[in-house]
Order: sequence, then structure tokens, then C-alpha cells
Amino acid sequence: IWTECLRVVEKHVNEQSFSTWFKPIIPARIDGSVLTIQVPSQFFYEWLEDNYVEVLKLAIKTILGANGKLEYAVVVDKGNSQNQPYMVSYPQGVNSPANAKKKENLASAHSPFDLSSLDEQTTLQSNLSANYTFTSFIEGDCNRLARSAGFAVANKPGITSFNPLMVYGGVGLGKTHLVQAIGNEIKNGPDDKFVLYVSSEKFVNQFMDGIKDGNIKSFTNFYMQVDVLIIDDIQFLAGKGRTQEMFFHIFNHLHQNKKQIIMTSDCAPKDLMGLEDRLLSRFKWGLTADLQMPDFETRIAIIKKKMQSEGINIPDNVIEYLAYTVDTNVRELEGVMISLIAHASLSRLEISLELAKTIMKNIVKDIETEVSIEFIQQSCADYYGIKVEDLKAKTRKKEIVIARQVAMYFSKEFTNHSLKSIGYHFGGRDHSTVIHAVQAINDLMETDPSFRNAIQEQKKQFKIRSY
Ligand code: ADP
Ligand code: MG
Repeated sequence: IWTECLRVVEKHVNEQSFSTWFKPIIPARIDGSVLTIQVPSQFFYEWLEDNYVEVLKLAIKTILGANGKLEYAVVVDKGNSQNQPYMVSYPQGVNSPANAKKKENLASAHSPFDLSSLDEQTTLQSNLSANYTFTSFIEGDCNRLARSAGFAVANKPGITSFNPLMVYGGVGLGKTHLVQAIGNEIKNGPDDKFVLYVSSEKFVNQFMDGIKDGNIKSFTNFYMQVDVLIIDDIQFLAGKGRTQEMFFHIFNHLHQNKKQIIMTSDCAPKDLMGLEDRLLSRFKWGLTADLQMPDFETRIAIIKKKMQSEGINIPDNVIEYLAYTVDTNVRELEGVMISLIAHASLSRLEISLELAKTIMKNIVKDIETEVSIEFIQQSCADYYGIKVEDLKAKTRKKEIVIARQVAMYFSKEFTNHSLKSIGYHFGGRDHSTVIHAVQAINDLMETDPSFRNAIQEQKKQFKIRSY
């Protein structure tokens, strides 16, 4: 009988709604002219009631005749102690508590979730910070795809194939900045769109409050009216089944209505543990783009931009030093800049390399600042895949000779050891061997560009330490 009802329903709703809202329904029993269907949640039930009452009525009357009635059995969440399905019947549903609640909430649909409750106005708040813009988001190889996809979405929210747009990357790499930049761009754009930014944590808390206060309806109403939903740090939903289910429904509703959804996560979707597959599979509908740690040049550009916006000038060698030394994430880079500025102004000192180094040592605990011959030897041995002993041995094998000469060259450049002392550290060779090595490396760098690049690449790690 239910299959027949579904056939009627199918004719009246689109494919996506059908698979979202009707496929999950399980026919429970038929009792005379009363059909009981089992639905996965209270929310699901309310949603059917709100949106598909007419279709369901039609199906029931068509198949069961004029006396046909529909009852729902709602499966209570597993997290809940009562595991029994409970019953809600329809069509008496008009006076059901759920519907009474709904009317009341419609009047104040925005208020409970207007997150700026301090603000008495009824305008909808986006929760966007105006500082996060595309202009202040420096482009680099590290973020090119995410940034340009974000820009495309900002110009045509909901219309591009980047729906949802999922941005992922480690902590402090600019996820929040980028997605808020998209939000700001849309908000300040020509169309009157309601953009909403929310952290997943806040989303979970609102949902929990909604349950506690029996206010789920206004929660969903609120979220379903947005044009652009930005939900940050989605990994926070891990293991929160009920919130995920709710998010799933909101997601479907928004997506169906061509509303833009933008999400961030601290890891790739495939590594998101504790998120339901049906949710993860939805994420694949759009575009997933990652953010990486900016490379050296991009870090320089970020520091310069930041200093410029603070109206502060710092010497180039300090900028370089910071860009070299802080390679963890952008937030840390900013942290170091801020303490540098603060120290300089408190102590009324010029921002100098000396000051930067002192501060750096206080903040970054594991920073090694000395370049020893041993360190150079180890690093060259690793680079060329040989043993440190080989550098000191008598071998004249070509690869080893090169590695040895490179190590001597770096020792000359980055340590204060005399030629004699360097020779001594390389198996007791004399100073003329060291001079010869330095000369040979300089010659090679001149004639072989790829060798020169390799040397410059290796040099970075010594440079960081030798500031
Ligand atoms: P996440 O959300 O990934 O943890 P944030 O968006 O909070 O990181 O970024 C941390 C800080 O780094 C912010 O102050 C942000 O403005 C800055 N930032 C990150 N990436 C860039 C970038 N490409 N250009 C300029 N600032 C950046
Ligand atoms: Mg963030």
C-alpha cells in the first residue's frame, strides 16, 4: 500500500525531495484505513507535515479512500533513553503541540537565533567580521584554488557548481578568513542576500538549546531562510549524530533551493572521522579545496600587508627573518609580529633584527640558533644520502667528494671556524683542500643552474639558524 502511495507522491514532488523525504520512510502497519509510517525523527515528521501535507493527503485518499488516515511513528534518537517509537497522528495534527509551537515561533522566527541578542534590532546579523576580506587575504600557491573558487562563489552564490564549497586546512592557515571574505563580498554585493556565518560549535549549542526549550522549529526556520550559510570547523560535528541529522536536512533544503553552503574543516573530508557518510557524500557535490602553509615569498607578502595595515614600518631583514623562522602557520606568524610591535613600543626600541631574535627565542622554544659544523655535516649527509663518516673518510668517490665539498662550503659560509679548523673536522684535511672545495662549489653554481638551486634550497635551513 505504501508503495502505491509513493507512486502518487512521486508524481507531485521532484526527484531530490522524493529521495530525501520519502525514501527514508518505512511503512509500519495498516489498521483498517489507518496507515502508520515510521519516520526517522521528530524533525523529519515536522518537515513532512509542513511541506508535504497536501501530497500525503492526496496519496492516502487516492489509495485508502476518503476515510484514509495517516499516522506517524517517530523513531526517537538513539542517544535518548526512551527507545520506543512514539506516535503522532494526522490529520488531527492541526492541534498537536508541534503545530501550536510552530505558530508561536513563526512570529518570532528570527529572535532566538539572532546571535547578537544584545542588539535589540530585528535585523538579521551575519556574524561576519569586516576585516576579513579578499583584499587582505594574500594569494599564493598555497591557497590559489580555494581563493579563486571562493571568489567565484562570492560573485554567483548558489549558482556555480561549487555548492557546497568546502575549504579545509590546518589550524591558522586562513580558513575562517577566506570564508568570511566570501561572506563579506556577498553581503556588500548588489543582491540583497542574507549571509550567515556560524561556527559549528555554536550551531551545536543552538541546536541543543532548541531541544531543551522545545524550540527546534525556530532553529530550523532560522537556518532554512538563509541565502548563504557559512559553517566553520565542521569537524566539530563529529560524533554528534542528532546535530548532524539536523544539519543534513538544513543542507538539503538549502541546496535544493539553490542557496549557497560554505564549510570549513581542519582535515580533508575523507579523514573526517565521526561524520555520517550521507553527509560526507553531499560534500562531494561541490568543490573541496585545501589551504597550505604559505611559502617564503607569500609569508613576506603577508607580513608586509599586515604591517602596512597597522601603519608600521619594519626593516626588510626583520621581515625576512620572521618569514624564514615562522613556518608553522599564519596565525603564529601574526602572533610573533604582534609581540614584536608590542615589545618595541613598550621598550621604546626600534624594531630591529636583534629585538626580533630575542623575542623569537622567548616565543619559539625549540628554535636552534647555532649552525655548527656537525649540524652542516649531518644535514649534507642526509641530503646526499650518505653517512657523516664518509665525509671524513679518504674515499674519492664522485658523489661523496661533491657532498664533502658542499659541506665544507657551507661550513665556511655559516660558521666562524678557520679554514684550518674546518679541514680538521673533515678527517684532518689541510686548509688548501677547503679553499679548493669552496672554489669548486662556486664554479659549479655558476655553470649548473640546477645545482645552484639545490644549494640555495639547502642554504635556507642554515640561514634560519644563523640569523
Ligand atoms: P583558521 O581558521 O584556518 O584557523 P584563520 O582564518 O583564523 O585560520 O587565520 C589565522 C590568521 O592568519 C588570521 O588573522 C588571518 O587573517 C591570517 N591569514 C591566514 N591566511 C592569510 C592570507 N593568505 N593572507 C593574509 N592573512 C592570512
Ligand atoms: Mg578558523
